[in-house]
Amino acid sequence: MTDPLELPASARRPRQTFELEETGFNEVPKRFRRFYRRWRGAGDKLGPNEALCPVCKVVIRSTKELRAGDRVYCMPCMSRLELVEEEGMLIAKVIY
Ligand SMILES: [Zn+2]
Repeated sequence: MTDPLELPASARRPRQTFELEETGFNEVPKRFRRFYRRWRGAGDKLGPNEALCPVCKVVIRSTKELRAGDRVYCMPCMSRLELVEEEGMLIAKVIY
């Protein structure tokens, strides 16, 4: 039986890729710094390749567009997170 909601992989929109620049984030070893940045508070906006860690409020950045169901690792606080969609927004939730 085929679930009609399950699109074949070839029909999915390919993920955008992103160049990550140095952000000045200094709480992780140098080679990982571009994958994190500080949340600048109200008025800051997450890019399609970014997720906000609910634990330490650091922005996690990927070279790929992030989607619901993706799992990301927050190195500054060592949390494993899963992205879920809530009211049209991607929210990172801690995986216990
Ligand atoms: Zn964190």
